Amino acid sequence: MTYPSVFCSNCGSDYPKDGIPYCCSICGGLFDFRSGLQFDPTQMERSQPGIWRFRHTFGLPPDLAPVSLGEGNTPLLWAEALGRRIAFKCEYLNPSGSFKDRGSAVITAWLISRGVTEVVEDSSGNAGASLAAYAARAGIKARIFIPESASGPKRKQIEAYGAELVTIRGSRSDVTKAVRNAADGGSVYASHAYIPFNLSGYASAAYEIFEQVGKMPGAVVVPAGQGGFLLGLARGFDALCKVHKQYTIPMMIGVQAWSCAPLWALCAARDEQARPVTEGETLAEGVRVRDPLRGDAVRAAVLRSRGFMVAVDEKDIMPARNALARLGFYVEPTSAIAWAALIQMVDKLPDPIVVILTGSGLKYG
Ligand SMILES: [Zn+2]
Repeated sequence: MTYPSVFCSNCGSDYPKDGIPYCCSICGGLFDFRSGLQFDPTQMERSQPGIWRFRHTFGLPPDLAPVSLGEGNTPLLWAEALGRRIAFKCEYLNPSGSFKDRGSAVITAWLISRGVTEVVEDSSGNAGASLAAYAARAGIKARIFIPESASGPKRKQIEAYGAELVTIRGSRSDVTKAVRNAADGGSVYASHAYIPFNLSGYASAAYEIFEQVGKMPGAVVVPAGQGGFLLGLARGFDALCKVHKQYTIPMMIGVQAWSCAPLWALCAARDEQARPVTEGETLAEGVRVRDPLRGDAVRAAVLRSRGFMVAVDEKDIMPARNALARLGFYVEPTSAIAWAALIQMVDKLPDPIVVILTGSGLKYG
C-alpha cells in the first residue's frame, strides 16, 4: 500500500511502500502531505470512538484499524474571564494527559499496519508518555529518549507504561541527536515531529471545536514548541473551510516562552533573516524546542490566518497556571503560557476565542 498523499517536501518522492523512514531516504528531506487535508461530512463514522469518527481525514488507508484509549471528544467549556466569554478546549483530559494522544493513536495504528513491533521516540515528556501508552495498548515495545531535566511525573508515567526510558544529559536538541543515532542504526523512529500523520491526528481537534462552538472560532490560542498542534489545527480548519465556504480560518495565535522562542522570532522577523535563538531554561519545558522542523509551515499558517506568535515572560507563567486553576482548569506550566499570552492581547482578538489547554497539571512536579 502506498500513501500518495504523503511525499518528500524537498525532492518530491512519494512515501515508500515499505518500511517506516522518518525522513526521505533519497535526500533527507521532510515528509508532508502533498495537498491539504480532506474533510468530507458524508464520510464521518459516528459509531467509531473519539477521533476515529474522522478516520477518512488521516491520509491513511480508509479501513485502518483504530487503536484507541478514548482519545478525543474532549470537553469545550465556557468561562467568563478577562471581560470576555472564553472557550477552553480541555486537551489535558486525553488518556495520557495531553493532546499528543490524538497523534499517537493515528501513528500507532499506522505502525501496526506496517508490522512494526519496536520503536524509538524522543520527547520533552508528553509525547513520550503518550506514545508509551499507545505502544502498551498495541503490544509494541517502545524506547523513549528524554532530557535529564524532564518532569518526574512524566518519567514515571513513561516507565509505568512499560517503555524503556533513556535519559540524556544535555539539552532537548541533544536528545534528538541521540534518538536519530538510534534511528540511523536501524530502529523505527516513531517521531511525533517528523511523521506527518501526527498532524492529521491533531487536526481532529479542529473538527471537534467547530462542532462544539457551532461555528468557526474567531481566534485560537495554543502553546507551540515544534508548532505541530498549531499546524494540525490550522490544517483542520482549512479542511472545514473548503466544505463550509462561508468561513475563513480563525486567527491562529501561537505562544512560546521568551527563553526559547524560535517560532516567535521567525514570525516577527518576517522577510528578514530570523534572529538567533537560545534554548534557555523555562518552566514551559514542553515548548522548549530550539529548531522546529516545520517552522516555515507554521509561520505560513500563522500569517495566513492573520494571527501572530506571542512570547511569554518566565515570571508570568506560574501566575497564569494559578489563574487557570482558579477557574477549575489544572494544567501544567507549559499549557499556562496560552493564558499568560491571552492576558496581553485579548483586546486584539475576535470572538469566539478558544484557548487550548494542552497538558495536565498532574504532569508537573
Ligand atoms: Zn527527498
